[in-house]
Amino acid sequence: MIPLGEARRFVLDGCACSRTESLPLHAALGCVTTATVSAEGPVPPFANTAMDGFAVRASDTTDAPVVLRITGTVRAGMSGLDNPVGAGEAVRIMTGAPVPPGADAIVMVELTNAGDDGETVTVLEAVPVGNHIRPAGDDVVSGDVVLHPGIALTPGHLGLLATIGATHVEVVRRPRVGVISTGDELIDDGSALEPGQIRDSNRLTIRSLVAESGFEAIDLGLVRDDEQAISDALLAGVETCDALVTTGGVSMGDFDFVKVVLDRIGDMRWMQIAIKPSKPLAFGTITRPSDGTKVPVFGLPGNPVSSMVSYELFCRPGLRKMAGFDEANLDRPTVLAIVEEPLSRKPDGKIHFARVVCRYDMESGTYRVRSAGAQGSHHMAAMAAADALAELPDGPTIEIGQAVRVRLLRP
Ligand code: AMP
Ligand code: MG
Repeated sequence: MIPLGEARRFVLDGCACSRTESLPLHAALGCVTTATVSAEGPVPPFANTAMDGFAVRASDTTDAPVVLRITGTVRAGMSGLDNPVGAGEAVRIMTGAPVPPGADAIVMVELTNAGDDGETVTVLEAVPVGNHIRPAGDDVVSGDVVLHPGIALTPGHLGLLATIGATHVEVVRRPRVGVISTGDELIDDGSALEPGQIRDSNRLTIRSLVAESGFEAIDLGLVRDDEQAISDALLAGVETCDALVTTGGVSMGDFDFVKVVLDRIGDMRWMQIAIKPSKPLAFGTITRPSDGTKVPVFGLPGNPVSSMVSYELFCRPGLRKMAGFDEANLDRPTVLAIVEEPLSRKPDGKIHFARVVCRYDMESGTYRVRSAGAQGSHHMAAMAAADALAELPDGPTIEIGQAVRVRLLRP
Protein backbone atom coordinates (compact mmCIF):
# COMPACT_ATOMS: atom_id res chain seq x y z
CA MET A 1 0.00 0.00 0.00
CA ILE A 2 1.17 3.53 -0.73
CA PRO A 3 0.35 6.62 1.37
CA LEU A 4 -2.60 8.80 0.34
CA GLY A 5 -0.30 11.79 -0.20
CA GLU A 6 1.86 9.88 -2.69
CA ALA A 7 -1.15 8.78 -4.73
CA ARG A 8 -2.57 12.28 -4.72
CA ARG A 9 0.77 13.76 -5.85
CA PHE A 10 1.01 11.21 -8.65
CA VAL A 11 -2.49 12.11 -9.87
CA LEU A 12 -1.90 15.87 -9.67
CA ASP A 13 1.38 15.58 -11.58
CA GLY A 14 -0.53 13.86 -14.39
CA CYS A 15 -3.18 16.58 -14.62
CA ALA A 16 -1.95 19.60 -16.57
CA CYS A 17 -3.82 22.90 -16.83
CA SER A 18 -6.00 22.90 -19.97
CA ARG A 19 -5.83 25.47 -22.77
CA THR A 20 -7.53 28.82 -22.55
CA GLU A 21 -10.63 30.09 -24.32
CA SER A 22 -12.70 33.23 -24.54
CA LEU A 23 -16.19 32.70 -23.10
CA PRO A 24 -19.27 34.94 -23.10
CA LEU A 25 -19.80 36.17 -19.54
CA HIS A 26 -23.00 34.18 -19.00
CA ALA A 27 -21.10 30.93 -19.65
CA ALA A 28 -18.05 31.67 -17.49
CA LEU A 29 -19.30 31.21 -13.90
CA GLY A 30 -16.73 29.22 -11.90
CA CYS A 31 -14.05 29.32 -14.62
CA VAL A 32 -10.53 30.48 -13.75
CA THR A 33 -9.27 33.66 -15.43
CA THR A 34 -6.04 33.74 -17.42
CA ALA A 35 -5.68 37.45 -18.18
CA THR A 36 -5.62 40.83 -16.48
CA VAL A 37 -8.73 42.91 -17.20
CA SER A 38 -8.70 46.72 -16.89
CA ALA A 39 -11.58 49.19 -17.07
CA GLU A 40 -11.59 51.37 -20.18
CA GLY A 41 -13.75 54.05 -18.60
CA PRO A 42 -15.04 55.20 -15.21
CA VAL A 43 -17.82 53.46 -13.27
CA PRO A 44 -20.29 55.04 -12.76
CA PRO A 45 -19.78 56.68 -16.16
CA PHE A 46 -21.42 59.94 -14.99
CA ALA A 47 -22.33 61.60 -11.69
CA ASN A 48 -25.80 60.42 -10.69
CA THR A 49 -28.20 60.51 -7.79
CA ALA A 50 -28.43 57.79 -5.14
CA MET A 51 -31.93 58.99 -4.10
CA ASP A 52 -35.26 60.06 -5.53
CA GLY A 53 -35.67 63.77 -4.77
CA PHE A 54 -34.59 67.16 -6.09
CA ALA A 55 -31.34 68.33 -7.66
CA VAL A 56 -30.45 71.71 -6.17
CA ARG A 57 -27.64 74.14 -5.45
CA ALA A 58 -26.54 73.35 -1.88
CA SER A 59 -26.02 77.08 -1.19
CA ASP A 60 -29.76 77.65 -1.84
CA THR A 61 -30.63 75.38 1.11
CA THR A 62 -28.49 77.06 3.78
CA ASP A 63 -31.45 78.93 5.28
CA ALA A 64 -33.89 76.00 5.07
CA PRO A 65 -36.78 75.73 5.10
CA VAL A 66 -36.72 77.43 1.67
CA VAL A 67 -39.08 77.36 -1.30
CA LEU A 68 -37.50 76.53 -4.69
CA ARG A 69 -39.07 76.67 -8.16
CA ILE A 70 -39.35 73.26 -9.93
CA THR A 71 -38.08 73.64 -13.52
CA GLY A 72 -38.17 70.06 -14.81
CA THR A 73 -37.73 66.32 -14.27
CA VAL A 74 -34.74 64.03 -14.97
CA ARG A 75 -35.44 60.29 -15.06
CA ALA A 76 -32.92 57.42 -15.22
CA GLY A 77 -31.89 57.04 -18.86
CA MET A 78 -32.12 60.78 -19.68
CA SER A 79 -28.99 62.89 -20.22
CA GLY A 80 -30.06 65.71 -17.86
CA LEU A 81 -28.39 68.28 -20.11
CA ASP A 82 -31.73 69.95 -20.99
CA ASN A 83 -32.53 70.61 -17.33
CA PRO A 84 -29.84 72.88 -15.86
CA VAL A 85 -30.43 74.02 -12.28
CA GLY A 86 -30.16 77.77 -11.68
CA ALA A 87 -30.20 79.74 -8.42
CA GLY A 88 -33.52 79.30 -6.58
CA GLU A 89 -34.43 76.32 -8.77
CA ALA A 90 -34.89 72.58 -8.25
CA VAL A 91 -35.19 69.71 -10.75
CA ARG A 92 -37.12 66.58 -9.85
CA ILE A 93 -34.72 63.63 -10.11
CA MET A 94 -35.01 59.82 -9.86
CA THR A 95 -32.39 57.34 -8.56
CA GLY A 96 -29.71 56.64 -11.18
CA ALA A 97 -30.45 59.77 -13.25
CA PRO A 98 -27.55 62.10 -14.14
CA VAL A 99 -27.09 65.14 -11.92
CA PRO A 100 -28.05 68.07 -14.18
CA PRO A 101 -25.63 70.94 -14.89
CA GLY A 102 -25.59 73.59 -12.16
CA ALA A 103 -26.78 71.25 -9.38
CA ASP A 104 -24.29 70.16 -6.71
CA ALA A 105 -26.53 68.31 -4.22
CA ILE A 106 -29.61 66.11 -4.00
CA VAL A 107 -32.35 66.62 -1.42
CA MET A 108 -34.16 63.36 -0.86
CA VAL A 109 -37.89 63.52 -1.38
CA GLU A 110 -38.55 62.70 2.30
CA LEU A 111 -36.96 66.05 3.29
CA THR A 112 -39.22 68.11 1.02
CA ASN A 113 -42.84 69.25 0.82
CA ALA A 114 -44.24 69.60 -2.68
CA GLY A 115 -46.31 72.74 -3.23
CA ASP A 116 -50.00 72.24 -4.12
CA ASP A 117 -49.43 73.89 -7.51
CA GLY A 118 -46.73 71.32 -8.43
CA GLU A 119 -44.48 74.25 -9.39
CA THR A 120 -42.64 74.76 -6.12
CA VAL A 121 -41.04 72.59 -3.45
CA THR A 122 -40.11 73.40 0.12
CA VAL A 123 -36.69 72.04 1.14
CA LEU A 124 -36.95 71.34 4.87
CA GLU A 125 -33.24 70.92 5.78
CA ALA A 126 -29.95 72.34 4.54
CA VAL A 127 -27.80 69.85 2.58
CA PRO A 128 -24.04 69.91 1.96
CA VAL A 129 -22.37 70.00 -1.48
CA GLY A 130 -22.24 66.47 -2.94
CA ASN A 131 -25.21 65.24 -0.88
CA HIS A 132 -26.42 61.84 -2.27
CA ILE A 133 -24.36 62.30 -5.46
CA ARG A 134 -22.40 59.26 -6.72
CA PRO A 135 -19.51 60.87 -8.65
CA ALA A 136 -18.24 59.46 -11.96
CA GLY A 137 -15.48 56.88 -11.24
CA ASP A 138 -16.61 56.50 -7.62
CA ASP A 139 -16.61 52.67 -8.01
CA VAL A 140 -13.94 52.04 -10.67
CA VAL A 141 -11.51 54.58 -12.09
CA SER A 142 -10.64 54.36 -15.78
CA GLY A 143 -7.57 52.09 -16.12
CA ASP A 144 -8.19 50.25 -12.82
CA VAL A 145 -7.37 46.52 -12.89
CA VAL A 146 -10.66 44.79 -12.06
CA LEU A 147 -9.54 41.17 -12.47
CA HIS A 148 -6.24 39.31 -12.15
CA PRO A 149 -5.33 35.94 -13.69
CA GLY A 150 -6.08 32.90 -11.51
CA ILE A 151 -9.43 34.10 -10.16
CA ALA A 152 -12.37 31.64 -10.05
CA LEU A 153 -15.23 33.74 -11.42
CA THR A 154 -18.13 34.41 -9.03
CA PRO A 155 -21.45 36.11 -9.88
CA GLY A 156 -19.96 39.32 -8.45
CA HIS A 157 -16.93 39.18 -10.77
CA LEU A 158 -19.20 38.61 -13.76
CA GLY A 159 -21.35 41.58 -12.75
CA LEU A 160 -18.24 43.74 -12.48
CA LEU A 161 -17.11 42.63 -15.96
CA ALA A 162 -20.56 43.45 -17.37
CA THR A 163 -20.40 46.85 -15.64
CA ILE A 164 -17.17 47.79 -17.39
CA GLY A 165 -18.63 46.73 -20.74
CA ALA A 166 -16.87 43.39 -21.22
CA THR A 167 -18.83 40.76 -23.16
CA HIS A 168 -16.27 37.93 -23.03
CA VAL A 169 -13.57 36.80 -20.59
CA GLU A 170 -10.37 34.75 -21.07
CA VAL A 171 -10.47 31.60 -18.94
CA VAL A 172 -9.02 28.10 -18.65
CA ARG A 173 -11.21 25.69 -20.57
CA ARG A 174 -13.51 23.64 -18.33
CA PRO A 175 -12.54 19.98 -18.57
CA ARG A 176 -14.96 17.80 -20.51
CA VAL A 177 -15.04 14.59 -18.51
CA GLY A 178 -16.19 11.31 -20.06
CA VAL A 179 -17.83 8.87 -17.63
CA ILE A 180 -18.09 5.11 -18.26
CA SER A 181 -19.51 2.40 -16.03
CA THR A 182 -18.71 -1.27 -16.60
CA GLY A 183 -20.24 -4.52 -15.48
CA ASP A 184 -22.36 -7.37 -16.88
CA GLU A 185 -24.56 -7.24 -13.78
CA LEU A 186 -25.67 -3.64 -14.39
CA ILE A 187 -28.83 -2.30 -16.04
CA ASP A 188 -29.75 1.34 -16.53
CA ASP A 189 -33.11 1.29 -18.30
CA GLY A 190 -35.46 1.03 -15.32
CA SER A 191 -36.73 -2.41 -16.34
CA ALA A 192 -37.42 -5.19 -13.80
CA LEU A 193 -34.27 -6.78 -12.39
CA GLU A 194 -33.44 -10.28 -13.64
CA PRO A 195 -31.72 -12.58 -11.13
CA GLY A 196 -28.17 -11.36 -10.51
CA GLN A 197 -28.74 -7.89 -11.90
CA ILE A 198 -28.37 -4.56 -10.07
CA ARG A 199 -28.90 -0.99 -11.22
CA ASP A 200 -26.07 1.20 -12.46
CA SER A 201 -25.72 4.04 -9.96
CA ASN A 202 -22.06 5.01 -10.42
CA ARG A 203 -22.46 6.61 -13.80
CA LEU A 204 -25.08 8.96 -12.41
CA THR A 205 -23.19 9.80 -9.21
CA ILE A 206 -19.92 10.44 -11.04
CA ARG A 207 -21.60 12.52 -13.74
CA SER A 208 -23.32 14.50 -10.98
CA LEU A 209 -20.06 14.97 -9.07
CA VAL A 210 -18.41 16.23 -12.26
CA ALA A 211 -21.28 18.67 -12.82
CA GLU A 212 -21.19 19.73 -9.17
CA SER A 213 -17.47 20.42 -9.58
CA GLY A 214 -18.41 22.87 -12.34
CA PHE A 215 -17.20 20.74 -15.26
CA GLU A 216 -18.88 19.20 -18.26
CA ALA A 217 -19.81 15.53 -17.86
CA ILE A 218 -20.08 13.45 -21.02
CA ASP A 219 -22.01 10.20 -20.71
CA LEU A 220 -20.00 7.51 -22.46
CA GLY A 221 -22.45 4.82 -21.46
CA LEU A 222 -22.70 1.52 -19.64
CA VAL A 223 -20.26 -0.95 -21.13
CA ARG A 224 -20.33 -4.74 -20.81
CA ASP A 225 -17.42 -6.76 -19.37
CA ASP A 226 -16.01 -7.29 -22.83
CA GLU A 227 -12.52 -6.27 -23.95
CA GLN A 228 -13.54 -4.98 -27.35
CA ALA A 229 -16.50 -2.98 -26.03
CA ILE A 230 -14.41 -1.39 -23.27
CA SER A 231 -11.59 -0.56 -25.68
CA ASP A 232 -14.02 0.98 -28.21
CA ALA A 233 -15.68 3.12 -25.51
CA LEU A 234 -12.36 4.39 -24.12
CA LEU A 235 -10.90 5.21 -27.54
CA ALA A 236 -14.08 7.03 -28.58
CA GLY A 237 -13.98 8.89 -25.27
CA VAL A 238 -10.42 10.18 -25.60
CA GLU A 239 -11.33 11.79 -28.93
CA THR A 240 -14.05 13.99 -27.42
CA CYS A 241 -13.00 14.40 -23.77
CA ASP A 242 -10.20 16.04 -21.78
CA ALA A 243 -10.30 13.32 -19.10
CA LEU A 244 -12.00 9.95 -18.58
CA VAL A 245 -13.42 8.35 -15.45
CA THR A 246 -14.31 4.65 -15.41
CA THR A 247 -15.87 2.69 -12.57
CA GLY A 248 -15.57 -1.03 -11.94
CA GLY A 249 -13.47 -3.75 -13.48
CA VAL A 250 -10.18 -2.74 -11.91
CA SER A 251 -9.94 -5.42 -9.22
CA MET A 252 -8.42 -8.90 -9.39
CA GLY A 253 -11.52 -10.72 -10.73
CA ASP A 254 -11.50 -12.90 -13.86
CA PHE A 255 -13.77 -10.45 -15.71
CA ASP A 256 -12.11 -7.19 -14.70
CA PHE A 257 -11.36 -6.25 -18.29
CA VAL A 258 -11.00 -2.51 -17.67
CA LYS A 259 -7.62 -3.32 -16.15
CA VAL A 260 -6.66 -5.48 -19.12
CA VAL A 261 -7.70 -2.86 -21.68
CA LEU A 262 -6.17 0.12 -19.86
CA ASP A 263 -2.88 -1.76 -19.63
CA ARG A 264 -3.00 -2.40 -23.37
CA ILE A 265 -4.06 1.04 -24.68
CA GLY A 266 -2.96 3.32 -21.81
CA ASP A 267 0.05 4.16 -19.72
CA MET A 268 -1.32 3.35 -16.27
CA ARG A 269 -0.15 3.02 -12.69
CA TRP A 270 -2.13 0.63 -10.51
CA MET A 271 -2.13 1.76 -6.94
CA GLN A 272 -3.19 0.18 -3.68
CA ILE A 273 -3.61 3.17 -1.38
CA ALA A 274 -3.63 3.03 2.42
CA ILE A 275 -7.22 4.28 2.69
CA LYS A 276 -10.66 2.78 3.27
CA PRO A 277 -12.87 2.78 1.29
CA SER A 278 -11.44 3.00 -2.26
CA LYS A 279 -8.07 1.34 -1.80
CA PRO A 280 -7.51 0.52 -5.50
CA LEU A 281 -7.02 3.31 -8.02
CA ALA A 282 -5.69 3.27 -11.55
CA PHE A 283 -4.38 6.53 -12.92
CA GLY A 284 -2.52 7.30 -16.11
CA THR A 285 -3.09 8.49 -19.64
CA ILE A 286 -4.37 7.25 -22.97
CA THR A 287 -2.81 8.93 -25.99
CA ARG A 288 -5.48 10.37 -28.29
CA PRO A 289 -4.91 8.69 -31.67
CA SER A 290 -5.92 11.75 -33.73
CA ASP A 291 -3.49 14.31 -32.27
CA GLY A 292 -1.25 12.61 -29.71
CA THR A 293 -2.72 14.43 -26.67
CA LYS A 294 -2.24 12.50 -23.45
CA VAL A 295 -5.71 12.26 -21.86
CA PRO A 296 -5.76 11.57 -18.09
CA VAL A 297 -7.76 8.46 -17.12
CA PHE A 298 -9.08 7.65 -13.65
CA GLY A 299 -9.96 3.98 -13.09
CA LEU A 300 -12.15 4.04 -9.99
CA PRO A 301 -13.30 0.99 -8.03
CA GLY A 302 -16.81 -0.28 -8.71
CA ASN A 303 -18.32 -0.20 -5.26
CA PRO A 304 -20.62 2.84 -5.24
CA VAL A 305 -19.31 4.48 -2.07
CA SER A 306 -15.71 3.74 -3.05
CA SER A 307 -16.12 5.38 -6.43
CA MET A 308 -17.58 8.53 -4.86
CA VAL A 309 -14.89 8.77 -2.18
CA SER A 310 -12.24 8.15 -4.83
CA TYR A 311 -13.71 10.96 -6.92
CA GLU A 312 -13.45 13.30 -3.91
CA LEU A 313 -9.88 12.37 -3.05
CA PHE A 314 -8.38 12.16 -6.55
CA CYS A 315 -10.63 13.15 -9.48
CA ARG A 316 -11.97 16.42 -8.11
CA PRO A 317 -8.53 17.82 -7.18
CA GLY A 318 -7.02 16.59 -10.47
CA LEU A 319 -9.83 18.03 -12.58
CA ARG A 320 -9.67 21.32 -10.67
CA LYS A 321 -5.96 21.49 -11.45
CA MET A 322 -6.82 20.96 -15.13
CA ALA A 323 -9.36 23.78 -14.78
CA GLY A 324 -6.67 26.18 -13.60
CA PHE A 325 -7.16 26.22 -9.83
CA ASP A 326 -3.91 26.62 -7.89
CA GLU A 327 -2.73 23.82 -5.65
CA ALA A 328 -3.93 25.51 -2.47
CA ASN A 329 -7.49 25.46 -3.81
CA LEU A 330 -7.98 21.92 -5.03
CA ASP A 331 -9.70 20.37 -2.03
CA ARG A 332 -12.95 20.80 -0.19
CA PRO A 333 -12.88 23.02 2.89
CA THR A 334 -11.65 21.07 5.91
CA VAL A 335 -12.55 21.75 9.55
CA LEU A 336 -11.79 20.14 12.89
CA ALA A 337 -14.91 18.61 14.42
CA ILE A 338 -15.79 17.03 17.76
CA VAL A 339 -17.13 13.48 17.57
CA GLU A 340 -20.60 13.15 19.17
CA GLU A 341 -20.74 9.36 19.01
CA PRO A 342 -17.90 6.83 18.65
CA LEU A 343 -16.66 6.42 15.07
CA SER A 344 -15.58 2.80 15.17
CA ARG A 345 -12.56 1.38 13.36
CA LYS A 346 -9.64 -1.01 13.95
CA PRO A 347 -5.92 -0.40 13.34
CA ASP A 348 -5.15 -1.63 9.79
CA GLY A 349 -2.52 0.74 8.43
CA LYS A 350 -5.16 2.81 6.59
CA ILE A 351 -6.84 6.19 6.93
CA HIS A 352 -10.60 5.66 7.02
CA PHE A 353 -13.00 8.14 5.45
CA ALA A 354 -16.20 7.83 7.47
CA ARG A 355 -19.44 9.16 5.99
CA VAL A 356 -20.72 11.61 8.58
CA VAL A 357 -23.23 14.35 9.18
CA CYS A 358 -21.54 17.55 10.30
CA ARG A 359 -23.15 20.58 11.92
CA TYR A 360 -21.87 23.82 13.38
CA ASP A 361 -22.87 24.31 17.01
CA MET A 362 -23.36 28.06 17.54
CA GLU A 363 -23.29 27.83 21.33
CA SER A 364 -19.88 26.18 21.66
CA GLY A 365 -18.50 27.56 18.37
CA THR A 366 -17.45 24.06 17.26
CA TYR A 367 -18.27 21.64 14.45
CA ARG A 368 -19.85 18.34 15.57
CA VAL A 369 -20.05 15.04 13.69
CA ARG A 370 -22.09 11.84 13.86
CA SER A 371 -22.01 8.78 11.65
CA ALA A 372 -24.33 9.04 8.65
CA GLY A 373 -25.09 5.30 8.91
CA ALA A 374 -23.63 1.94 7.85
CA GLN A 375 -20.05 2.33 6.68
CA GLY A 376 -19.65 -0.46 4.09
CA SER A 377 -18.44 0.49 0.60
CA HIS A 378 -21.83 -0.56 -0.79
CA HIS A 379 -23.90 1.42 1.75
CA MET A 380 -25.31 4.16 -0.46
CA ALA A 381 -28.00 5.18 2.02
CA ALA A 382 -25.36 6.51 4.43
CA MET A 383 -23.41 8.09 1.56
CA ALA A 384 -26.56 9.90 0.48
CA ALA A 385 -27.25 11.07 4.04
CA ALA A 386 -23.66 12.26 4.59
CA ASP A 387 -22.61 15.85 4.07
CA ALA A 388 -18.98 15.33 5.07
CA LEU A 389 -16.15 12.80 5.19
CA ALA A 390 -14.36 12.39 8.52
CA GLU A 391 -10.69 11.43 8.28
CA LEU A 392 -10.01 8.74 10.89
CA PRO A 393 -6.24 8.25 11.27
CA ASP A 394 -4.89 4.70 11.59
CA GLY A 395 -5.58 3.42 15.10
CA PRO A 396 -8.54 2.51 17.30
CA THR A 397 -12.08 3.89 17.42
CA ILE A 398 -12.43 7.67 17.74
CA GLU A 399 -14.26 8.22 21.02
CA ILE A 400 -16.84 10.84 22.01
CA GLY A 401 -15.23 14.25 22.55
CA GLN A 402 -12.18 13.59 20.36
CA ALA A 403 -11.51 15.85 17.37
CA VAL A 404 -11.22 14.67 13.74
CA ARG A 405 -10.49 16.41 10.45
CA VAL A 406 -13.64 16.66 8.33
CA ARG A 407 -13.98 17.45 4.62
CA LEU A 408 -17.19 19.36 4.07
CA LEU A 409 -18.93 18.03 0.97
CA ARG A 410 -21.74 20.60 1.25
CA PRO A 411 -20.47 23.59 3.21
P1 AMP B 1 -16.00 -4.36 -9.65
O1 AMP B 1 -15.01 -3.31 -9.27
O2 AMP B 1 -16.38 -4.29 -11.09
O3 AMP B 1 -15.55 -5.69 -9.23
O4 AMP B 1 -17.31 -4.00 -8.82
C1 AMP B 1 -17.30 -4.01 -7.42
C2 AMP B 1 -18.71 -3.96 -6.87
O5 AMP B 1 -19.33 -2.74 -7.27
C3 AMP B 1 -19.63 -5.06 -7.37
O6 AMP B 1 -20.48 -5.42 -6.32
C4 AMP B 1 -20.37 -4.39 -8.49
O7 AMP B 1 -21.62 -5.00 -8.75
C5 AMP B 1 -20.54 -3.00 -7.97
N1 AMP B 1 -20.64 -2.04 -9.08
C6 AMP B 1 -19.77 -1.91 -10.09
N2 AMP B 1 -20.15 -0.95 -10.95
C7 AMP B 1 -21.29 -0.44 -10.45
C8 AMP B 1 -22.18 0.58 -10.88
N3 AMP B 1 -21.94 1.28 -12.00
N4 AMP B 1 -23.27 0.86 -10.14
C9 AMP B 1 -23.51 0.16 -9.00
N5 AMP B 1 -22.71 -0.82 -8.54
C10 AMP B 1 -21.62 -1.13 -9.25
MG1 MG C 1 -17.32 -5.48 -12.42
